[in-house]
Amino acid sequence: GDVDFKHKLKFSQHLKEKAEAVSDFAKSKSLSQQRQYLPIYTVRDDLLGVVRENQVVVVIGETGSGKTTQPTQYLHEDGYTRTGLVGCTQPRRVAAMSVAQRVSEEMETVLGDEVGYAIRFEDVTCPNTKIKYMTDGVLLRETLKDSDLDKYRVIIMDEAHERSLNTDVLFGILKKVAARRRDFKLIVTSATLNADKFSKFFGGAPVFHIPGRTFPVNILFNKMPCEDYVEAAVKQAIAIHITSGPGDILIFMTGQEEIESACHALAERMEQLISSSTKAVPKLSILPIYSQLPADLQAKIFQKAGEGTRKCIVATNIAETSLTVDGIFYVIDTGYGKMKVYNPRMGMDALQVFPCSQAAADQRAGRAGRTGPGTCYRLFTESAYQNEMLPNPVPEIQRTNLSNVVLLLKSLKVENLLNFDFMDPPPQENILNSMYQLWLLGALNNVGGLTNLGWKMVEFPLDPTLAKMLLMGNELGCIDEVLTIVSMLSVPSAFFRPKDREEESDAAREKFFVPESDHLTLLNVYLQWELNQYRGDWCNDHFLHVKGLQKAREVRSQLLDILKTLKIPLTSCHMEWDVVRKAICSAYFQNSARLKGVGEYINCRNGVPCHLHPSSALYGLGYTPDYIVYHELVLTTKDYMQCVSAVEPQWLAELGPMFFSVKDSDTSLLDRGRWHNEEKTAMEEEMERLRQEQAEAAGREKLREEKRG
Ligand code: ADP
Ligand code: MG
Repeated sequence: GDVDFKHKLKFSQHLKEKAEAVSDFAKSKSLSQQRQYLPIYTVRDDLLGVVRENQVVVVIGETGSGKTTQPTQYLHEDGYTRTGLVGCTQPRRVAAMSVAQRVSEEMETVLGDEVGYAIRFEDVTCPNTKIKYMTDGVLLRETLKDSDLDKYRVIIMDEAHERSLNTDVLFGILKKVAARRRDFKLIVTSATLNADKFSKFFGGAPVFHIPGRTFPVNILFNKMPCEDYVEAAVKQAIAIHITSGPGDILIFMTGQEEIESACHALAERMEQLISSSTKAVPKLSILPIYSQLPADLQAKIFQKAGEGTRKCIVATNIAETSLTVDGIFYVIDTGYGKMKVYNPRMGMDALQVFPCSQAAADQRAGRAGRTGPGTCYRLFTESAYQNEMLPNPVPEIQRTNLSNVVLLLKSLKVENLLNFDFMDPPPQENILNSMYQLWLLGALNNVGGLTNLGWKMVEFPLDPTLAKMLLMGNELGCIDEVLTIVSMLSVPSAFFRPKDREEESDAAREKFFVPESDHLTLLNVYLQWELNQYRGDWCNDHFLHVKGLQKAREVRSQLLDILKTLKIPLTSCHMEWDVVRKAICSAYFQNSARLKGVGEYINCRNGVPCHLHPSSALYGLGYTPDYIVYHELVLTTKDYMQCVSAVEPQWLAELGPMFFSVKDSDTSLLDRGRWHNEEKTAMEEEMERLRQEQAEAAGREKLREEKRG
């Protein structure tokens, strides 16, 4: 951090009075007084008026103005919930849970009663529920069962500016619902000013502005690019804590690992200060927040710190707009965020760290000016901001794999995906690529329609690969085992590796290793837990997260219910684990790699080198089979394969004949690279037809524009 300290000091004195006034505010005001203090409250009746008169309304307001917590309650108070639910979608699960919690408190009810939430594998609502917060993914899946969404009177699509994949798809679907149901209301809310686009998409829907109430934020850029932004952020936070006036600190990082290491470093630095200082050092409460953090710990960021204690929240971009914490006066922005993007080199999605957009950086800075004038320390240079950051983030639909969405839309009988009403259509190569991947998995037939397998896959709230694995488990008679593996893969890692007890916890983990497979290792962990009566103390003794395993157990039972409705019986291979590996192989044959040198693999399809992750059982035991498949790639310093299983080359040839064939002379695989059988031709023709159709449509659109212009 290379910032002007003198300037900062002066500024912080100026803030001091304001800060004290504000920090008293939350303590002294009741929840209903706090509600009335929100900017949206001043326009409550106007908002209800506009909603009464229009079927679709776009609402724009600064973060923290009350867009997420208030309109649901206003609509409830105005009687809308007498004839149906008021639903509110969120792109992030953490936001759905935390906001529902807050609203239930404001309405003085128990969470899950009148106010509830639903996220994947977790439904906290009841027949009495009137206001339901949910992820956009949950609502999207509900349209499969009830295409008119009849139980909803109003849907609020919140955080529309985030342009999450599911929200973008919902736009097209809800537009149709609104056309079919006169009694249905749709509200689209956004924190930024790109409202015109939303309004236009919904046929010129009115745009309602919530008056803002923001304070100036003093923005300080780094003079030089910093080498280690975790270290720089920690230093900056400590400097603020020691030298600046009251007010909490919010640090933006990219993900869980970084956040944990920053929190650890902060705690260490504080300990050093306390032990080396003769004067009393003010207390600092260090609070991480990221999506995989258990809910009880997430809630802590909203709790008041004790007397004389400053809060320092270390967050992912979840705190950019979806969660608002009051009392933040200092923001430290690393300028980076993680994004899921399609990586053409690997032919798949990967979570990667990117510089955030200018819009995102401005939102982050804005968090410091919610309750009084604040300061934002940008750990990047002004020139990086101007020249290296995009003005706006790229919508997810234009940068990720669409297999899930394609599968869903196909089952909603959207025959030609290139004609679906997208606000910003995805690149057609994305659609075609996803169709190709679904075809490889056997979910689509040669002309792009859903197969029997595809129809079954849609039933599961899982990625197509995991759904395929499950259904293959059925065919191979080991669905009981595969069900457990899929459940374990659907929850955060169960292994617990505390900072100062790494060796001990690694040793504990090794005891569960199944030499040829991380997937089987997960299965083994679950089975051992089951044998030990699902006990919590047993988990603690073995460095396993109780909550993670409990979650896996819940997921398992929900998936089991779906299997029951599909009349798929539970079969077991009774520890014949090769069969299970074969089912695993069937889902991942696109993610296969071949041993190249010592400990180094290359991807079978594209020859890109990739490595065993140090946490892998194979790595730990030094076992390097000739062929493996992996669950996902993590791109950090190297391309790491995460969750790996050894497979037999014949399986790859048998399950993915479009890619592989076994050479006669030996069993090494001949990678065909491109597939060249009849199906390929049929599918390519279909794709070509779609391409042409879209080109023609684009041509017509252009003509129309030219005529207009
Ligand atoms: P917006 O959606 O416009 O960003 P919100 O409705 O989320 O605004 O927030 C309004 C107010 O409610 C903020 O002051 C915020 O601090 C408070 N709030 C929201 N969620 C919680 C929560 N889980 N706990 C405590 N306060 C909350
Ligand atoms: Mg909000």
